Amino acid sequence: MTPDAHWLRCEGCSATYPDDGLRLTCDQAHEPALLTSRYREAAFVLDGEASGLFRYRSWLPCSGPVDGEGAPATVTYRSEDLNRALRLPNLWIAFNGFWPERGAACETATFKDLEASAVLARLPAGSDRILVVASAGNTAAAFARACSRELVACVIVLPESGLPALALASPLDPCVRLVALGRGCDYTDAIRLADHLADTPGFLAEGGTKNVGRRDALGTVLLNAVETIGELPRDYFQAVGSGAGGIAAYEAAIRLVADGRFGRRLPRLMLSQNLPFAPIAASWRRRQRTLAELPDAKARLGRIKATALSNRQPAYSPAGGLFDALKATGGEMLGVHNHELDSAARLFRETEGIDVEPESAVALASLIKARAEGRVDGRSSILLNVTGGGRSRRIDDGGGPPVRADLELGEADLELDGARELVLSLFGDGLPTPNGRSTEGAATP
Ligand SMILES: [Zn+2]
Repeated sequence: MTPDAHWLRCEGCSATYPDDGLRLTCDQAHEPALLTSRYREAAFVLDGEASGLFRYRSWLPCSGPVDGEGAPATVTYRSEDLNRALRLPNLWIAFNGFWPERGAACETATFKDLEASAVLARLPAGSDRILVVASAGNTAAAFARACSRELVACVIVLPESGLPALALASPLDPCVRLVALGRGCDYTDAIRLADHLADTPGFLAEGGTKNVGRRDALGTVLLNAVETIGELPRDYFQAVGSGAGGIAAYEAAIRLVADGRFGRRLPRLMLSQNLPFAPIAASWRRRQRTLAELPDAKARLGRIKATALSNRQPAYSPAGGLFDALKATGGEMLGVHNHELDSAARLFRETEGIDVEPESAVALASLIKARAEGRVDGRSSILLNVTGGGRSRRIDDGGGPPVRADLELGEADLELDGARELVLSLFGDGLPTPNGRSTEGAATP
């Protein structure tokens, strides 16, 4: 895809920008707003030559040609046993994870693999900047894997507790550097350090939900589903933390409706969170754009099982964010207790024969709840986004040796400028070449 095959539009002021592969925000001064991708190709077109999610490359913000070799993708199917158990004949499952028999091969067993692949494909060719990623676990694993495969220099800042998620079968390339925060630090400290690093010349913020590469990658879940089902589902169920997946489904649905062949109605976003930590649900209940402040947020966070949903700054309020997506689709936010997600996970394992992540169990539990309360029509088509599954299969298949951090920082080391110097020293002799390849360990003269 050539760069002018897509461009960016601000959802706040409608300003447009060519996509340089790096831009995360609008230049104009106004209330927070997301940028969205606009594609010259208005029809839903598949690239049969490309692999994985790059099959949908005409609606991915790629900076150049990508063959997608080894790239992950969603697998959509209709279950017999689960549908019978729930009495929902038109339920479809969009499975993201590790399930070789079904053709699902996300190495982190979550849909984070999709995001990392597309973010790297969006980076401009010849970029010599070091990508900075802050993550609590699965995102770190996905970026570590993808950057290692594509030889893109990156530094990943994560809490020490996230390191086990990075034990992957093959070793990481030295272009990937890990900074682990221990001794009194949490995810918020990781974000602060990553932000500070990204402001340093030579470094580049990955951007999270603001990065159109991430959201359009998550949008391919709906594209895969529509390719399989042949039409847009009536209801779309997913658990949300940052909100990126819900916004992405909404953005992809707008493109599919504009195509005209798959239905005229946007799927209703039926999104869920794990009680007692459900800030988006609390805000949406009041139909307020402002994100509600939860009393005792930290204590609530400590009580949820679906820890990947523990995002305190979701993309709810910005123009083009979750508030707008829920409003435009007539969506709902549902809350699910730990015991409800446990039973849902058990039901999925019993009917489908594979484990799911607690976050996917939240989505399934919310569907069961909505069905029991008469909030879904049993005959209409429903898409359940299983955002992660098959972790136990992945482990059986062979994990790797424990991963060590390249740099360990404690609370006392977190004076930002000092910490930044320590991180910079990791790249001392191995600054990346203009191809994005690390010179260290690479076969360059
Ligand atoms: Zn703007």
